[in-house]
Amino acid sequence: MKATYFTLYPNCFLTRGQVENIILDTHRGRYLPIKSQIADLLENELKTQPVSQVKSLYPGWIKGLDAYLNHFVENEYGFYTEEPHHFPTYDLNFHHPGVIFNSIIAIESVEDFDYQLLFQDLLELGAGNIKNYLTHTQTFGNVARDSIRDIVESPDFQEKWHISNDQIAKCRTCQFRYMCISNSDIVFKDGKYYKVDDCSFDPLTNRWAST
Ligand code: SF4
Repeated sequence: MKATYFTLYPNCFLTRGQVENIILDTHRGRYLPIKSQIADLLENELKTQPVSQVKSLYPGWIKGLDAYLNHFVENEYGFYTEEPHHFPTYDLNFHHPGVIFNSIIAIESVEDFDYQLLFQDLLELGAGNIKNYLTHTQTFGNVARDSIRDIVESPDFQEKWHISNDQIAKCRTCQFRYMCISNSDIVFKDGKYYKVDDCSFDPLTNRWAST
């Protein structure tokens, strides 16, 4: 009989936080909080050893481990398999053929939207600041006088594009860092990146501040 392994679905990612750990299901947009002990096993022993062998390492925890793994299977976060080599991890590198992925044009006074009039209106309004994100205060130019392409391709404009939550103080210890929708601007001080707009979650206490 072949050995049985347990593996998470490739779209489900174990994310370790300072206090809490979660399995993030990126396809279904949901997550499951889990204890550190099972997170350790998912990250280590269960990746390379059959379930029966892992159980033999923790004879006092066989029932608990079974309950956890069955819960993951029932809720479709993971599955048992005799052929784990058929389920390699995803390559998470992301390539896009364009220079920018999406953009937003904020218009304040155009009633009948007309693309041909858009830039004329922007010129007259003195609007059209080019930013990394709408709420950021830093502007890099204006569509009325600058080339969007030149600005978008400039190192200054792209400086923050590749900074992930893994590199930002506080966020790097947060279990929600791969699902977080914060678009705060980022500052670099004293050798660390910080978000300008602090969120109400504290990974150190695992609590949201009441509003
Ligand atoms: S902004 Fe808040 S919720 Fe988002 S990753 Fe950072 S600490 Fe976590």
